[in-house]
Amino acid sequence: MIRACVIGWPIEHSRSPLIHTYWLRRYEIDGSYEKIAVRPEDLPEFLGSLHARGFAGANVTLPHKEEALRAADFADEAANAIGAANALWLDRDGRLCASNSDAFGFITNLNTEAPDWKRGGRPVTVLGGGGAARAILYGLLGEGLTEIRLANRTRDRAEQLAQEFGSRVDVVDWELRHVALAGCGLIVNATSLGTTGRPALDLDLTELPVDAVVADLVYHPLETQLLAAARARGSRAVDGLGMLLYQAVPGFERWFGIRPEVTPELRAELVASLQAP
Ligand code: NAP
Repeated sequence: MIRACVIGWPIEHSRSPLIHTYWLRRYEIDGSYEKIAVRPEDLPEFLGSLHARGFAGANVTLPHKEEALRAADFADEAANAIGAANALWLDRDGRLCASNSDAFGFITNLNTEAPDWKRGGRPVTVLGGGGAARAILYGLLGEGLTEIRLANRTRDRAEQLAQEFGSRVDVVDWELRHVALAGCGLIVNATSLGTTGRPALDLDLTELPVDAVVADLVYHPLETQLLAAARARGSRAVDGLGMLLYQAVPGFERWFGIRPEVTPELRAELVASLQAP
């Protein structure tokens, strides 16, 4: 039996077990995927004993993503560029290996939901400067974009990202985010604004071309005010749940040996869980 898990602190909110146990059932794999609460001070011991605990690997969520990367013996290009790991596995020699599939998840979902999002080679605006924004920048630059406008409430964080990711990223003042949308083919909300219990993202879409795509990383609620406003004006809206589903694919394949499919049925299960009280 192959075992994997997701670790975080807290961990109750994680939807990863739903996704992975759906695939284990669907592909009739003798395996398990558990949710394990690991305190930050216990992380080194936990990672050091992954094999002894019987795990082939683990997903990593907040607040362990950066520390997990530091603890790894090997990290792939995405994890190094993003500066965080969301999946771990042990290689044949027992070395701890780290990866980050958030950029893969975002781009794969975007290509699925809005395949022509790059049409016309127009600029893209990204809002945010945290870990999620890093993954989005890495993913978008990997797609060959030439102009990304980056706005974050704390400008210094955006400046830092622009310095790391290079001259194709232009920092825009947070107050000027509305006008930064002019001529863009895609905008991405990579802030936590719009999440249930938090203020909505205040963004005036007037300047955005109507045929642009609006993507939100927030998936609770599924339909954020931003996405509703985008749909209301005739723009295409891409929610954060798709990214969550697709980022799980590489880890499952690595641990359980089958590349799983993101099906409408799986998505429906996740939507139901998000709507549960
Ligand atoms: P983070 O590192 O904590 O960053 C939070 C971001 O939100 C920062 O840019 C922060 O700006 C901004 N922000 C927070 N409150 C704000 C406010 N009142 N006004 C303006 N900006 C504000 O979080 P993260 O890990 O990057 O995650 C960001 C969001 O993406 C979360 O909602 C997370 O759930 C979501 N996410 C979704 C997926 C998915 O699979 N769909 C994956 C990863 C993340 P400052 O820098 O100024 O604080």
